[in-house]
Amino acid sequence: MRFILMGPPGAGKGTQAEFLVDQFQIPQLSTGDMLRAAVAEGNELGILAKQTMERGDLVPDELVLGIIAERIQMPDCANGFILDGFPRTIGQAHALDNMLKKLGITLDVAINLDVPTDVLFDRIEARARAAGTARADDNAATLKNRIEVYTEQTLPILDHYQANGLLETVDGTATPASVTATLMVILEERTKPEAAATSQPHASLQF
Ligand code: AMP
Repeated sequence: MRFILMGPPGAGKGTQAEFLVDQFQIPQLSTGDMLRAAVAEGNELGILAKQTMERGDLVPDELVLGIIAERIQMPDCANGFILDGFPRTIGQAHALDNMLKKLGITLDVAINLDVPTDVLFDRIEARARAAGTARADDNAATLKNRIEVYTEQTLPILDHYQANGLLETVDGTATPASVTATLMVILEERTKPEAAATSQPHASLQF
């Protein structure tokens, strides 16, 4: 099972991904987590990404593509993975298509957790309060920018996944449990063997 969990900051991607990782025993590939780890480690990638992340801007595509390309080929991804926070630009989406094609694998679905902007502001402010200084990019100053960046650079990706038939949109304002239930239905539908392979032959063909 391979899928993308999309949605603006504060849509609940992290909460849902945590459950799905457990449920399907596949890793969550969060570029945000990977970048934060690099910043904490103080390595070259972290040094390059730190200020951009604190502003709430997107780090350059090539940095993110490098870490994803490496991560996606690790043995624990053999049975699948959940992409969380990637792709975030149309360039990343196209690069992901090429990467997967080269690896001979396909995505099952791209799920968009849809949450209106005003609800997002409430959620992210609550998260920033709860996290204290743990998430420097969650402070009120970067909040507006993160949502603007999402609207300008990430929302256009939905058209890409709509066009290739992979997009499913889920109401992210529902309770977490209800969102989870909807996700499970979608994932089951999208990963079950093709109807043609499992259904009985059509009556008119049974001579
Ligand atoms: P997240 O935890 O997914 O909200 O990511 C936190 C921050 O990391 C973002 O605001 C960006 O600065 C950076 N980041 C994470 N994923 C990406 C990505 N796919 N492309 C560019 N920047 C990213």
